[in-house]
Amino acid sequence: MKPARYFDKIENSKVHCRLCPHHCVIDPGRLGACRARKNVDGELFSLNYGRIASMALDPIEKKPLYRFRPGSLILSAGTFGCNLKCSFCQNWSIAHEEPQTVDMKPRELVRRAKEARIAGNIGIAYTYNEPSIWYEFVYDTCVLAKEEGLDNVLVTNGFIDREPLMELLPYIDAMNIDVKGYTASFYQEICRGTLDNVKQTVELAAERCHVEVTILVIPGLNDSINEIGEMAKWLASVSDEIPLHLSRYFPNYKMTDRPPTPKEILYRARDKALESLKYVYVGNVW
Ligand code: SF4
Repeated sequence: MKPARYFDKIENSKVHCRLCPHHCVIDPGRLGACRARKNVDGELFSLNYGRIASMALDPIEKKPLYRFRPGSLILSAGTFGCNLKCSFCQNWSIAHEEPQTVDMKPRELVRRAKEARIAGNIGIAYTYNEPSIWYEFVYDTCVLAKEEGLDNVLVTNGFIDREPLMELLPYIDAMNIDVKGYTASFYQEICRGTLDNVKQTVELAAERCHVEVTILVIPGLNDSINEIGEMAKWLASVSDEIPLHLSRYFPNYKMTDRPPTPKEILYRARDKALESLKYVYVGNVW
């Protein structure tokens, strides 16, 4: 356990976490909604600091980042926990279960990233689960990685408060941010989050680092061509250079009641988004 940042002590030994927009109020002995932060005797601790559940040297395109150092590899690491509750989660076994982990200090992860340079590694991607709820470990590692000339990449749901995000962004070179749907009700009902907070993250990040956006297109839920057109228009208002990835849904986790996204819907959505954006890609089709 590592002392957490971004919380306030409140009455009766409770704590108020300010890392993400859930703003959990946590009783002593209890966890936050992300399962990664615990109130121990009136202090908040990070439970996943340095606990690696998954690590691999991946092509940068797998993040997906198509217009940031194409053709390179990046050492990718993740832990457990997530602050959203998407019923269609494609990484549920580490995001929402209790995977086995190995302990690793930030310096050790950076050392491995440097060693992998010879194989084409450009840095570290914080991915597989939600990196913002691994904040203390990600921040400490990003600072060290930058000192060594490595790139830092976040693959994130963008559901983080403004203040911690702004503190981390100077160390971040690129982000892929999920915008999981383009209605408030989709976020509220399917993900237990809020669209406006995610839009804020995209807008703040796009001014400070390379940003690409991904939407998992789910039949009958967020696949309206008009809705995707509106999302593309908003993205273009931030920058029409932001690449948009339209990813194909496959039944997973708690959402198994619908078929994979028909390819023709993805191609129609791509054509619509291309009316506003320069770069739109269809993913997971083979
Ligand atoms: S980071 Fe975790 S504990 Fe903190 S507000 Fe978000 S869900 Fe709650």
